[in-house]
Amino acid sequence: MARKILVLAETREQVLRNVSYEVIAAGKEISEGGEVVSVLIGENISSLASELIHYGADRVVTVEDAKLSTYTPDGYAQALLATIKEENPEAIIIGHTALGKDLSPKIAAKLQLGLISDVTAIEITGGNVIFSRPIYSGKAFEKQIITDGLIFATIRPNNINPLRKDDTRTGETHSLSVEIKDLRTIVKEVVRKATEGVDLSEAKVIIAGGRGVKSEEGFEPLKELAHVLGGAVGASRGACDANYCDYSLQIGQTGKVVTPDLYIACGISGAIQHLAGMSNSKVIVAINKDPEANIFNVADYGIVGDLFEVVPLLTEEIKALKL
Ligand code: FAD
Repeated sequence: MARKILVLAETREQVLRNVSYEVIAAGKEISEGGEVVSVLIGENISSLASELIHYGADRVVTVEDAKLSTYTPDGYAQALLATIKEENPEAIIIGHTALGKDLSPKIAAKLQLGLISDVTAIEITGGNVIFSRPIYSGKAFEKQIITDGLIFATIRPNNINPLRKDDTRTGETHSLSVEIKDLRTIVKEVVRKATEGVDLSEAKVIIAGGRGVKSEEGFEPLKELAHVLGGAVGASRGACDANYCDYSLQIGQTGKVVTPDLYIACGISGAIQHLAGMSNSKVIVAINKDPEANIFNVADYGIVGDLFEVVPLLTEEIKALKL
């Protein structure tokens, strides 16, 4: 059953985020040969439309306005609701990012829709779209179907592979004019936390430190390993609470949910609340002094040892491999 799917592209400082391509791939699967329309909201972003088409969007709708230059729930909701009205899709797919988590309940409430959030897998059986999502902090998965009306879901970043880029693909782009009014949120300034390098929520490799790093300086060997692997540094709440790093690095139930290809947990015990944010990583390596630490129960590879000895050795070995 061919469906028309609307997917939301996300940008940061006029650069498309990876999740924009992942929602297209999810949309393609759900569309069953129908049309995937990508919505691009912002200011001066229309030049990005061709990139979305190269990654599989059949059509792109742009909504541009100076008031949309940074995300606000009111502004984006107005732009997206107008696009939904215009396009009348059968499903809407948004990334389960900070933006998506903020925006999607607002849209669902406005349109009186059910929302399936934090989807990690999609299957189509007997014409139904079945969404899997983790529950109980990732201890179990449930499957949900919307049987009647508009399908609305957010998908967890880094779970669905983008389609292969095809620079020869062409598709139509059109701009939708939406009057953005009565904004209750005005962004005066965007202050970035000093998380150098790769964005944690999009990183393919994450080196995370826990209370075992013992100090702010204790994160230095982790940063070096992240640097040679082209990855990002993350942390447990234990490390954040102890003031060793900023809370923007926190991974877990009350922090960021990440699914990198490689997660290296250094000096992290593996509390259930931490596992909720990283246990779906593709390969997990744990470095811990305590052979009984719970993190070893989810690790693919475990190293029992002092992180201050193991991490620099790993960094040196990887540097040597790259020479
Ligand atoms: P610890 O549990 O103290 O573990 C430190 C580990 O380091 C130990 O296993 C130790 O053996 C090892 N170690 C020490 N020195 C070394 C060394 N030199 N080399 C190698 N290993 C060493 N936590 C999160 O992480 N994220 C969340 O989002 C989160 N949300 C929470 C929400 C709620 C409602 C609650 C109640 C708790 C939450 N927590 C969260 C906290 C969680 O329960 C744990 O307290 C926290 O994850 C522990 O952090 P940790 O593993 O760094 O510290």
